[in-house]
Amino acid sequence: MSNIKTCPDCRDYTLKDECQKCGAGVVSPHPPRFSPEDRYGKYRRKLKKITKEGA
Ligand SMILES: [Zn+2]
Repeated sequence: MSNIKTCPDCRDYTLKDECQKCGAGVVSPHPPRFSPEDRYGKYRRKLKKITKEGA
């Protein structure tokens, strides 16, 4: 079942890789903790911490 994705802008569901309405990239409707954005956030926080300790 699902390769279903949703557009973050339209909140429209599609099976394609991009939104049929606005052409934006679509995302998984239930973005869990594996979201690249979250991982990047963690990484940035870690970097910040290291920098602070190093100073
Ligand atoms: Zn859209």
